[in-house]
Amino acid sequence: MLKINIEEVLKFLEKNKKRYKKIVLQAPDGLRNQLLKLYDAILEAGIEGEVYISGSRNFGACDIAYEEAARVKADVIIHFGHTQFPYSEEQINNLPHIPVKYFPVYDDREVSSDLLHRLCTEIEGYKNIGLLYSIQYYPQFNEIKKMLEKEGFNIFIGKGAGIGLGKGQIIGCKIGAAKTIQDRVDAYVIVSGGKFHALGVSLWTGVPTFLVDIPSNKIFNLDRETSRIRSIIAYKLLEAEKIDRFGIIVSRKSFQYNLSIARYCEKELKKRGKKAYIIIVDELSPQILMNFPDLEGYIQTACPRISIDDVMLYKKPILNIEQFMILIGHKKFEEVYPWRERKVIQEKK
Ligand code: SF4
Repeated sequence: MLKINIEEVLKFLEKNKKRYKKIVLQAPDGLRNQLLKLYDAILEAGIEGEVYISGSRNFGACDIAYEEAARVKADVIIHFGHTQFPYSEEQINNLPHIPVKYFPVYDDREVSSDLLHRLCTEIEGYKNIGLLYSIQYYPQFNEIKKMLEKEGFNIFIGKGAGIGLGKGQIIGCKIGAAKTIQDRVDAYVIVSGGKFHALGVSLWTGVPTFLVDIPSNKIFNLDRETSRIRSIIAYKLLEAEKIDRFGIIVSRKSFQYNLSIARYCEKELKKRGKKAYIIIVDELSPQILMNFPDLEGYIQTACPRISIDDVMLYKKPILNIEQFMILIGHKKFEEVYPWRERKVIQEKK
């Protein structure tokens, strides 16, 4: 279970009571209802000030409630469930100067010995293991690390990709912790909940990837899912080659805002005799794009995973930046989406 640590937040607010009088609380779907309890606790603790809850959807640390906070002139945004996003200069310079305090929320489930046993069986034949986690499962990551070392595996833990991300930590669009050890490992083990994070690692490295899914108590091999997604992306790229009129999507969400990249795409498309229209959106969805039936396809600069995980929700091709670079010939498909031959698995058969 994921549970906000109310005591920890109260201590922080008590310590900073002179600086932070207006507070905006923000949490992703699934955790948001716990903000009501926290709201009560802040008032009951006698911490003077105004407290507000951001009720908007939240997709990750890339999507901080600056807009709500600026409206109510908040002194601080308290964000739960994620660590700081590795932002760019362009992104941070375009935001109001409101401090953000991040409180990760950890799953408190124990790792069963049965799960550990199944993991060892699954990765038998691989010696050098890259171990990674998404933040909610940091406690289980530590436990699994100890156990794998005890079982004789060589464990590699890569450096996090930029500010905010710890060693071994990945998010949906930043897998630097996997990339930095890619040449030294035979396989990755991702400690997470759901296939989202593991799929990113498998797709962007091509290295055999196993997910330890803590909520379902299961182990998944990501091979099949990855080949399926690779084929879909390849097909969408073929379709995109025929397009003459593109919409270039810019998100106004805090750390999904990439205007200079959009401008670059516009320039490259025009050089090739294509039409391009920059469209700014709050939240990208198939419904929003239905209002542009004259456009044949899109380049979206918001979240790379929209063009991977959600690609089938969109009738027309919708490429992310790396896919755009393949489209214009600046990158090769295998460079972006590599695939390592499964020699070990073939030997096992
Ligand atoms: S994967 Fe997408 S939603 Fe998740 S942090 Fe990155 S940009 Fe945000």
